[in-house]
Amino acid sequence: MHSSFHRRTRRTLATIAFAALLAGIPALPSSALGGNDAGRAIVDAPDGNGYAIISATGGQYNYGSSRFSGSLAGTHLNAPIVAAVAIPGAGDAKWYVAADGGVFTEGSGGQFFGSMAGRPLNAPMTAILASPTGKGYLLVAADGGTFAFGDYPFPGSLGGLRLNAPVVDAARDSDPRHVWLVASDGGVFALGTTPFFGSMGGRPLNAPMTAILASPTGKGYLLAARDGGTFAFGDFPFPGSLAGLRLNAPVVDAALAGHGTGVWLLGEDGGIFALSAPFYGNALSEANPPHPTYPAPVPGNGGLVNVSCPAGGAITVAAQIAANLKDLLTAAKTAGYSLCGSGWRSAQRQIELRKQNCGSSYEAIWVWPSSRCNPATAIPGTSMHEKGLAVDFTSATTAGFNWLKANAPGFGLYLLISGTEPWHFSTNGR
Ligand SMILES: [Zn+2]
Repeated sequence: MHSSFHRRTRRTLATIAFAALLAGIPALPSSALGGNDAGRAIVDAPDGNGYAIISATGGQYNYGSSRFSGSLAGTHLNAPIVAAVAIPGAGDAKWYVAADGGVFTEGSGGQFFGSMAGRPLNAPMTAILASPTGKGYLLVAADGGTFAFGDYPFPGSLGGLRLNAPVVDAARDSDPRHVWLVASDGGVFALGTTPFFGSMGGRPLNAPMTAILASPTGKGYLLAARDGGTFAFGDFPFPGSLAGLRLNAPVVDAALAGHGTGVWLLGEDGGIFALSAPFYGNALSEANPPHPTYPAPVPGNGGLVNVSCPAGGAITVAAQIAANLKDLLTAAKTAGYSLCGSGWRSAQRQIELRKQNCGSSYEAIWVWPSSRCNPATAIPGTSMHEKGLAVDFTSATTAGFNWLKANAPGFGLYLLISGTEPWHFSTNGR
């Protein structure tokens, strides 16, 4: 544990990119993140030219080169998301950690290595660090306890020590055993053999500390406070600071821009402050506000069931239509048509499909009618697939689809009313 600090002069605001100041002005406060959906984490894109904002409910908003990798919108969480991290080597995939230690993998290519969910914690979780291999992660709790999963080497822990203030964030250098923890009072703890470059511990702060970023060289770090004040140690290039400005909402997290040329700060309201870095948008702007909330579609009583297809594979549907679907597949097989298909899909998958088939803009995902997408794709939260009550059949022949149209109603499945998708059947023709 270290409590000493180097004296550092806070430099002028002149280094702040002009866009940063503009970015701090909320154009549409009514669409800001907040309350139980407050901004919680910012994750830089793999190429450093964009970022994702992660909210407490697991919403994900992407800017610049950052690509959407999944959302927990509509998923019941036992505790809010508190931190997120990019998964090395897995594109835009990310891990989220919730206050109760639950870990969520968002995006293809990312793997799950375990969590603390359901296990008693002495303090809420506050940070997650990824192994450089992408094959493990470290969870960090507010009491300085650390929990290593996958191939993340245990770096040491403060668990059991009495801290003056809770740990609020963590960072590592290229060696995953070199981990720094920062407490809300500005104290920095260098675990194990991690080099120490100073802290704000013992010095009066205008606002509690909230984030720490490691220098790309591993020879320094930047601390960020809730008022946007920043404090550079070691070789971390001072990026500018918001100290002295009046923020509409406190800063809650920070990310390296351009792999270390600057810094993005995230406000609890989804605002972004770009320090010596390009501004790509924020969750306050009209162009990309947080998506509307909607009741999570849930499969009916009995949950989801896999119905086997005659030639292999299976279709996942709500239990209430499983027997009928099974009989339908059997009847089709008897008639000479070997069918399979896809049924239930998650709310996250529906969002991904809208991005793929309609476009990545807010309107494309949440507003456009399904007919404007190619192929037609229902607005997330409104698809019969999300209830497990629709099936997109695959058939080798047009004759197979014609057979379905004529015979599926006898099994309680009806062709899409608009007639634009010969493969889509559901319990209500929607
Ligand atoms: Zn469909």
